[in-house]
Amino acid sequence: MNREKIIVIDFGGQYNQLVARRVRECGVYCEIYSYKTDIGQIRDMAPKGIILTGGPNSCYEEGAASCGRELFELGIPVLGLCYGAQLMMLTLGGHVCKAPVREYGKIEVTVDKSSKLFGDVSEKTICWMSHNDYIEKKAPGFRITGRTPDCPVAAAEWEEKDLYAIQFHPEVLHTQEGAKMLRNFVYQVCHCEGTWKMDAFAAASIQAIREKVGKGKALCALSGGVDSSVAAVLMSKAIGNQLTCVFVDHGLLRKNEGDEVEEVFGPKGPYELNFIRVNAQERFYEKLRGVEEPEQKRKIIGEEFIRVFEEEAKKIGAVDFLVQGTIYPDVVESGLGGESAVIKSHHNVGGLPDYVDFKEIMEPLRDLFKDEVRKVGLELGIPEKLVYRQPFPGPGLGIRIVGEVTPEKVVMVQEADAIYREEIARAGLDRTIGQYFAALTNMRSVGVMGDERTYDYAVALRAVNTVDFMTAETAEIPFEVLAKVMNRVINEVKGVNRVLYDLTSKPPGTIEFE
Ligand code: GLN
Repeated sequence: MNREKIIVIDFGGQYNQLVARRVRECGVYCEIYSYKTDIGQIRDMAPKGIILTGGPNSCYEEGAASCGRELFELGIPVLGLCYGAQLMMLTLGGHVCKAPVREYGKIEVTVDKSSKLFGDVSEKTICWMSHNDYIEKKAPGFRITGRTPDCPVAAAEWEEKDLYAIQFHPEVLHTQEGAKMLRNFVYQVCHCEGTWKMDAFAAASIQAIREKVGKGKALCALSGGVDSSVAAVLMSKAIGNQLTCVFVDHGLLRKNEGDEVEEVFGPKGPYELNFIRVNAQERFYEKLRGVEEPEQKRKIIGEEFIRVFEEEAKKIGAVDFLVQGTIYPDVVESGLGGESAVIKSHHNVGGLPDYVDFKEIMEPLRDLFKDEVRKVGLELGIPEKLVYRQPFPGPGLGIRIVGEVTPEKVVMVQEADAIYREEIARAGLDRTIGQYFAALTNMRSVGVMGDERTYDYAVALRAVNTVDFMTAETAEIPFEVLAKVMNRVINEVKGVNRVLYDLTSKPPGTIEFE
């Protein structure tokens, strides 16, 4: 597909994905590439604009990440952010060095409103800064368009050449008018049309899938999560009964979740496809018996999942396509796009399962961010409840039960979690908190109920807010809501006599509780 796009050249900044997301929020498709990408390849892509990200290096040091001068001579607009701004200035003859005063946090920048970037921005505007180096002297040809008391060149530009450099981070929400600045770059400088719309994406994908699959057969592992659900519906709209979805119920799903998935995708649901539900609870419980170590549990669940899926796939026989719900952050984090170190090897990317007889892998959501996947889901008419489902780990409740997993404990955590989610929704907080769930600790302690001594488990409630899932802050849930949940859990969940609220942020904690 030859769509209008802007590319982000990644110098290893923390916010590379955020930059791309913000551009897409303006209605323009955006992809991330490593700074090592060949200049010829960039020219061939013919992007409408290029954005250089921040990065950990000092651009004047030997071996620092860099790009050639040619990048600025392609006639394509370039916007450098932080490291990208410094690099642009250095490469084009300016001077960058260690700043006498480093800036970190929200800083007021005075901008020149005659700049295309700042036309509708307040003259004094709060921006997010994070730098040790600074542009001491701009490169020739440029004019300074932004300043702070400690930063003589907080923004500079060469309008005729469409080159823009800003020291701060417009992609971060702390930069109050950052979205406007990026929008101005996209529309005023790059003259984009804004063709990236999710309804158009869905229509085009359905068409493309039809053409690709022809009369072939496709197989999809459905987890009930957002990504695989949207992928499955997209496929079903394109090829109907040529698609078979296998849903493995490993007995570690949230309360009623298995039935909910079946309601939507099963024979009584609105979609045309072959749906196979495998009730494999017992098998998983059997394998998990006596296992306490979290990594080992993850491994067992993962392997058993593959085995079950494999057995079903064998019954179906050869298929042409194996469908996976890979999304863009999976691609980037696997080190295939951008420059971020391999943070996790994602199960969806790269490693093809060799146990299924298929010719080709198909990843219809590979280009999309999570919020875009959700929009496509809504476009396709998937119930909101499913589209806004919280992220849920593959190993499910198996890792939200600390220590050994037993069927009794699964019921405890399912019930507690259902109560927690119900009360959060009742308080109107379900769309404001990033992720929240109940976990079952491995701690038993003494309590008293109905004048009788109890010796039962403690449930831990977790709730975090996060932009990117790399870091997270604990959500401040009103105490009345927590108290209500505590009350209900103690009263309604047998085997639990204590409820704790986990205050730990990430880092040092993780989002999950295992
Ligand atoms: N490493 C550079 C500096 O310290 C750039 C930092 C950044 O891009 N956030 O100034």
